[in-house]
Amino acid sequence: MAAKTTYDFDMMLSNAREAYGEELYKMACEGKDFVFTFSDNVAPSSSAGKLLRDFPERCFNFGIAEPDQVGASAGLALAGCTVFSQIFGPFLPLRAADQIHTDIAYNDVKVRLKEFGAETLIGIGGGKVVDSVKAAAFKCRLLNEVIIPTIAATDAYTSAASCIYGEETHMMIEAINSPKNPDLVLVDTEILLNAPVRQFVSGMGDALSTYVGGLVCQQNYLNNHHGGVGTHSALAIAKLSYDMLFQYGRQAKLAAEKKAISDAFNAIIEVNILMSGMGFENNGSSSDHSFYFGTLALPNREEYVYHGEGVAFSTCCQLVMQGASNEQLDEVYRFCRDVGLPITFDDMHLSDLTDEEFDIMTRAALDQAFIHNQPFEVTYEKVLGAYKAADAIGHLYHEGGSLL
Ligand SMILES: [Zn+2]
Repeated sequence: MAAKTTYDFDMMLSNAREAYGEELYKMACEGKDFVFTFSDNVAPSSSAGKLLRDFPERCFNFGIAEPDQVGASAGLALAGCTVFSQIFGPFLPLRAADQIHTDIAYNDVKVRLKEFGAETLIGIGGGKVVDSVKAAAFKCRLLNEVIIPTIAATDAYTSAASCIYGEETHMMIEAINSPKNPDLVLVDTEILLNAPVRQFVSGMGDALSTYVGGLVCQQNYLNNHHGGVGTHSALAIAKLSYDMLFQYGRQAKLAAEKKAISDAFNAIIEVNILMSGMGFENNGSSSDHSFYFGTLALPNREEYVYHGEGVAFSTCCQLVMQGASNEQLDEVYRFCRDVGLPITFDDMHLSDLTDEEFDIMTRAALDQAFIHNQPFEVTYEKVLGAYKAADAIGHLYHEGGSLL
């Protein structure tokens, strides 16, 4: 069944506030250079209030003079202090913008600015940026999340989930499932048109996995990412996104290369950002990402592919493992080959894999919870066999061959 990390919202809120205050107190205890600046916004009974009681010589209240607070904080930091500055959220950008720009940013001064009472977090960027913003908004229990994609490379934008990756291994180490999706996903076609074509294509690879993974969950009454069984409408969205890839994907790539807005380009943006996000979340995931995550466990191998590129090959592996028809494999492999998504290990820059490396990948893939979302037992032999057979089929298609 789907493994998921869930959080108690009220618990998170009280824990976050307490953890913040405790961390400030710890820094005051540990570092003689620690300074805390604030603006009439620390309640004596709060966890940060303890700091004021025990370390009054390190706490400076600027009242309602936020610009002075930011300027003085920058000066203290330049003098070698570790400064934590707490300001009401709206007043920070509205009243102290000049000091943030001139005193802090321009001089590259390290001042920790804590927006107190902020209600909205805006994430502008790709999947990892947006996932970080969604996770931060959830953990801080902010009311609103606004997402502005700058590439159409993954289905992270509309999803409530945030994938957290390890710094060293690049393996996904945590999936944070917020109870709510972003409040606004603002898609500007012109921004996406100027994004690298390879990332646009990568988004199609991520979208390709949505129906393939979701269908297995639906057919076998497995949980979706919200902990329930998906609806018919959810599956219809996933199926539509899958069909639209084959219908518009090749055209869309050509349009993207010419920076030309066309119906096909817009259709694939809808697929990559909206439909794939809704599709995977509401139907559930199966082995579609796991084979890719397995490759990330390889030591001393360059991480060459983007998320969606690796997922495209991973989806091929899943289809091979579950005995998909020649017709379906032919459709998927042709599509991937035509738009430039990986269908072999060579395409992933993982040539000449040793037996030991296959072993590492296979074990890492088997460690992924979702790979077991199948109606059959997913064994070591099945995963290893799927890796090798999927790669062989990919070579067949690169050489102009066909399964039909
Ligand atoms: Zn993905």
